[in-house]
Amino acid sequence: MDMNTGKIELPKQAREFGFFVDGKWVSAGARKLIERRSPAHDVAVTRITRCTVEDLNHAVSVARQAFTDRRWSGLSGTDRAAVLLKAAEGIRARAEELALLETLESGKGISQSRGEVLGAASIYEYAAGAARALHGDTFNNLGDNMLGLVTREPIGVVGLITPWNFPFFILSERVPFILASGCTIVAKPSEVTSATTLVMAEILSDAGLPAGVFNVVTGSGSEIGQAMTEHDDIDMLSFTGSTAVGRRALLASVGNFKKLGLELGGKNPQVVFADADLDEAADGVVFGICFNAGQCCVSGSRLIVEKSVAADFEARIAEKLSRVRVGDPLDPRTQVGAIVTEQQHDTILSYIGKGREEGARLVCGGGPLVTDQGRFVMPTVFSDVTMDMAVAREEIFGPVLTISTFETFDEAMELANDTVYGLAASIWTKNLDKATNAFRRVQAGRVWVNTTIAGGPDLPIGGFKQSGHGRETGIYGVEEYTEVKTVHIALGKRDLWV
Ligand code: NAD
Repeated sequence: MDMNTGKIELPKQAREFGFFVDGKWVSAGARKLIERRSPAHDVAVTRITRCTVEDLNHAVSVARQAFTDRRWSGLSGTDRAAVLLKAAEGIRARAEELALLETLESGKGISQSRGEVLGAASIYEYAAGAARALHGDTFNNLGDNMLGLVTREPIGVVGLITPWNFPFFILSERVPFILASGCTIVAKPSEVTSATTLVMAEILSDAGLPAGVFNVVTGSGSEIGQAMTEHDDIDMLSFTGSTAVGRRALLASVGNFKKLGLELGGKNPQVVFADADLDEAADGVVFGICFNAGQCCVSGSRLIVEKSVAADFEARIAEKLSRVRVGDPLDPRTQVGAIVTEQQHDTILSYIGKGREEGARLVCGGGPLVTDQGRFVMPTVFSDVTMDMAVAREEIFGPVLTISTFETFDEAMELANDTVYGLAASIWTKNLDKATNAFRRVQAGRVWVNTTIAGGPDLPIGGFKQSGHGRETGIYGVEEYTEVKTVHIALGKRDLWV
């Protein structure tokens, strides 16, 4: 580490991982490996195993056995909570290792990774409480001869597919809730960011999670992921990723009618009214598009600003963006790191090209940041954007903001809802009536008023429209992984039918 800047050095060699099934590491053996190069430095940092469909089938049968023999689901909420609390301790103890792996594989700034890892530990602590709070219902109003119960039972074996943008944080918004419900898991992380999921398997095992309850297979989405979506012995699939792959998962689930939790894409509006605190709103908009280099499902990528303040607001954004630090993710001062893959980099640049061709006015940015190594994109803003342009309609998943203007409240709401997505929205105004009317009208699973990308595990998350199905986190996030069972208990002597 550089003592003046706090900048971390690249590891000397790539770390190699097997996969984790039935409480043990399985080494790659003769299987192929997938090498991951740091997107910011172009050097190999990890190698993971390209698991086969047989490996997946074995992991599912292990998770099935662990579910059926009730080694986990049969424990009390208190005992499950104890394991989750120990896991939180384990995450804190290995926080620096996890944060570094996350940064090396994803390209996000190390300070951000550290924050996400510590945030993840606190999610496990929240979910420990939820494991104890989970309960059903009783109907004591059915007369003296009948008692009604509604019990919640864990749904069974859960397949968990996660994306590359927040590999550890998204995993942690799912796993402790699934475990709190009593289910068992087979997880498949993104092939470019699998390391922290694998380390988590070891942390959970060290925390006392029984063998076979949390298993990880690694490999390609089109092979292992697709086989998971089709698998007849997986009871529920929690998929987080693009809407296109989510649609495939939906189609593939028909074989056994598995329950689906889908957390998909977004094209999220930032609605700024003239009476907002414009400086704070501009700060929020800049954060909302730069966070994780815009590779964030809840990125505020569509600014919809009241015409009377639009020019002033645009200038504020450009000025603030000029001060955002883009660069080496191993430097703790970096705010915007690298773009995750060559393909994602090309996609973002092609959208910037489209924005120009479609006649949007470039305010700032507009291309790659030229560096000796790695791939970076300068935060980019397009103004005079209309909703027929691809940059306004499609999820770019990069630091590209579009600006459109409105004159009336209704027009603002129409623009905000003019999208197939419904993941998140932010509203900036100091007028309470306006804020309330706006959050009621906007079609999104998560709405922020006078802030953006904020909040913890207490409240549920999920999308409207093509942004998904179901909810994660909060007590809803545990209930999501349960089946509801209705029980009628007859009391006293039966009134004979025959
Ligand atoms: P992706 O859909 O390409 O991949 C997500 C996961 O699915 C990966 O693990 C991948 O290996 C796997 N996969 C790929 N093909 C598959 C297939 N045919 N069957 C099953 N699994 C398959 O998404 P990504 O590029 O990793 O992530 C970016 C996308 O994820 C964006 O659209 C973003 O909005 C979305 N996302 C949504 C949320 C949310 O909470 N709503 C959070 C993060 C990311």
